[in-house]
Amino acid sequence: MTLPPIPDTQLLAEQLAVVLGQMPDPSGGPATGQLERDLAEAFGVPHAVAVASGTAALHAALSACGIGPGDEVLVPALTVVMTVAPLDALGATPVFVDSVPATLDLDYDDAARKVTSRTRAIIPVHLWGRMGDPATLAAFASEHGLAIIEDAAQAAGTTRDGQRAGTVGTVGCFSMKDGKILWSGEGGFLLTARRDVAEHATAFRSHWQPAPPGEAPLSRLATNSRLAPPLAAIALANLRRLASLVELRRTQTRHLLHALEQAPGLIALAPATREKWNGFAPLLHIDLPNPRAFAEHLAQQGVPNSTGSFQLVPCDTRPMFTDRDQPCRGAAQILDHTLAISLTERDTETTLDRYAATIAKEAAAWTT
Ligand SMILES: *Cc1c(COP(=O)(O)O)cnc(C)c1O
Repeated sequence: MTLPPIPDTQLLAEQLAVVLGQMPDPSGGPATGQLERDLAEAFGVPHAVAVASGTAALHAALSACGIGPGDEVLVPALTVVMTVAPLDALGATPVFVDSVPATLDLDYDDAARKVTSRTRAIIPVHLWGRMGDPATLAAFASEHGLAIIEDAAQAAGTTRDGQRAGTVGTVGCFSMKDGKILWSGEGGFLLTARRDVAEHATAFRSHWQPAPPGEAPLSRLATNSRLAPPLAAIALANLRRLASLVELRRTQTRHLLHALEQAPGLIALAPATREKWNGFAPLLHIDLPNPRAFAEHLAQQGVPNSTGSFQLVPCDTRPMFTDRDQPCRGAAQILDHTLAISLTERDTETTLDRYAATIAKEAAAWTT
């Protein structure tokens, strides 16, 4: 399986040169507006709002959905801490929901048990680019009257049942931090069909200036989470390459998983039927003793992965949350047993073949 070449990097330099020629411009310049129009068109949604990070996108989106002190928000334990930090900043309470090991999707029975009169929203997190079943999500949210704020930071390019990740809920939030498929160094954006949500987010990212239509100027304190123009330029260029970047990632993932088909104790985690997965990270179920130690060992041998390199643990087991509820066992089981290999567009066939050789050799030798 041959990888396609890295798509047109020349575009990056060209776009950056255009924006540098417009700087300095205290009003922010035209790059952000252009990026937002292009994002809305590329994802087929009415509104896109660009911000400084994926965390900032979640913060603005939750604020725009009216989440505030005393509100409870359902969030999978199977996520990174960045999904949850904005809830704390808004004075809301995360309520951790378990996930189903066989599908990686939310455990909706557990979610239903955790709904109270204070529950306002649910944040499905499309970890590793897998998006869960959009119909079940929509039915659950509608039954309980919840806003859906998707954490689609890793899911650009995934669709399921023809629906794009990040366009299923009230708002979809994306990160453009290096390491995501659509990258700009740092950055993020949100997508929504609701004009009021987009207007709130636009004010929220810039100290409520200007205030949204119909609201008094400076009537709220907000944040500075504007996207810097040079990063908007990089994002614009990468957005033009997005289809090729997603195709490249899919091919890299297929290549690595194909090379590991015979590796002992490792079983590829296939996407759902009717899911067109972006291939964000090659995913393998580790059927070996002490699987977490195996992932850490691979990280030490130069194979970067979610648990071994980045110490990803269920969010509900982090020290600031451990006084709550029963631990989410499905999420722990998934993280303990999943090898999720971190890729970038720079990973060539040589790199992938080296990863595969290391993984196969270490799996065959693993006894601890
Ligand atoms: C990267 C990421 C975030 C946070 O994005 P930042 O740009 O780093 O703030 C949130 N959720 C998930 C699932 C992520 O992968």
